[in-house]
Amino acid sequence: MPLIQTTDLARSYRIGDITVPALRGVSLAIERGEFVAVMGPSGSGKSTFMNLLGCLDVPSSGSYKLDGEEIAGLDPDRQARIRNQRIGFVFQNFNLLPRASALENVELPLLYARVPAGERHHRAREKLAKVGLADRGHHRPMQLSGGQQQRVAVARALVNDPPLILADEPTGALDTRTSLELMALFQELNGAGITLVLVTHEPDIAAFAKRVLLFRDGKLVEDRRVAQPHRAADMLGQAA
Ligand code: ADP
Ligand code: MG
Repeated sequence: MPLIQTTDLARSYRIGDITVPALRGVSLAIERGEFVAVMGPSGSGKSTFMNLLGCLDVPSSGSYKLDGEEIAGLDPDRQARIRNQRIGFVFQNFNLLPRASALENVELPLLYARVPAGERHHRAREKLAKVGLADRGHHRPMQLSGGQQQRVAVARALVNDPPLILADEPTGALDTRTSLELMALFQELNGAGITLVLVTHEPDIAAFAKRVLLFRDGKLVEDRRVAQPHRAADMLGQAA
């Protein structure tokens, strides 16, 4: 059973009397352990698709199964629980709470899941260490570089040990080297079995994925395997 299965997935927005079709019937399967890049011009439906996969939005029609479970008709509470427990999110602008420390930011999904304080601290520290920020737990986002802030966001995405991470333009606000470091981290997580779906408009970033989906006008127009994904860790070694 695939981790993700969509069938004729569609989403339209109504603006007054007009219906804008943002996604027009996308059918695909994503297996566990895949690393998928989603590409396409601005307005092609990439974010709409990611929001549906992330249970942040509901389709107008069609089916979305996560781990075999139909998501489309679920009530909002159940969807929120799935979002919290099974999906990690990474955004272009990090979306960290500015007044909270790195550790508190990472703990946030556990707070929603009502995990007791002791375990929260322990798990947040463990994930911060995993992304190389063990010594930055008490820093506020503003006291960290962009790359470090994005690592805090990745630690937050990992804190519930979700099988799936969704990232919408995660390198959009990062310089080349920092982007490479983030991709090395993503490849390491993918090597450990996490399924990744990442939106990017940069071919250089998509080259780290194992599979590339191309969207145009709300449709999936191309779906190809990458024969030999670039290895970000090797490229960092060469750049050093
Ligand atoms: P992308 O992420 O590929 O740039 P989006 O998924 O954000 O594309 O948007 C796809 C289409 O749907 C665009 O035409 C956009 O204007 C429209 N759209 C997206 N979100 C909304 C919304 N909340 N209300 C109305 N139209 C929207
Ligand atoms: Mg978008």
